[in-house]
Amino acid sequence: MTTDKVPQKQFCHFCGSRLSKKYFEGRDRLFCEECSVPIYENPVPAACVIACDEKSRILLVKRNEEPKKGFWCLPGGFMEIGETPEEAALREFHEETGLKGKIERLIGIVTHKSPRYGSILVVGFIAGCLEGKMNPGDDASDARFFSMEELPELAFDSHLFFIRSFYSAYVSSPFQN
Ligand SMILES: [Zn+2]
Repeated sequence: MTTDKVPQKQFCHFCGSRLSKKYFEGRDRLFCEECSVPIYENPVPAACVIACDEKSRILLVKRNEEPKKGFWCLPGGFMEIGETPEEAALREFHEETGLKGKIERLIGIVTHKSPRYGSILVVGFIAGCLEGKMNPGDDASDARFFSMEELPELAFDSHLFFIRSFYSAYVSSPFQN
């Protein structure tokens, strides 16, 4: 799949009819004439976690999947139906790092563009009380702690935003001067 254009939905996911486009409720939307309903498209919710060691270094995972395979990012992923954002964040954190933690606070909520989903809404949390043995897994090939000075290029701008917010709010930071 090419990554420069968001793939468009072709068929109604309720009845299977081919979708058309229609101006409805203030914007052009996909529309199913058969069901007589618009197909609303919304940002996809995801959650990620900032977790630190005792030196305030931040835990990152190396992506093992496209997009941005090989880049580092905060542990996280998409919410499943029935999960709270906190549950999704801790589940993904555990799957990707092998560690367990507890949510301490919300760091922020941002949207960023996605080549596959159009727009992703990311909820960022700070987690503490880390337990367990580091064991990268799922769609992460590596996991380790980085200081702000040695931070690698990140897969997603939203994650850099969370890290900067975290450092400026809670840690003596190079962004504060
Ligand atoms: Zn339909």
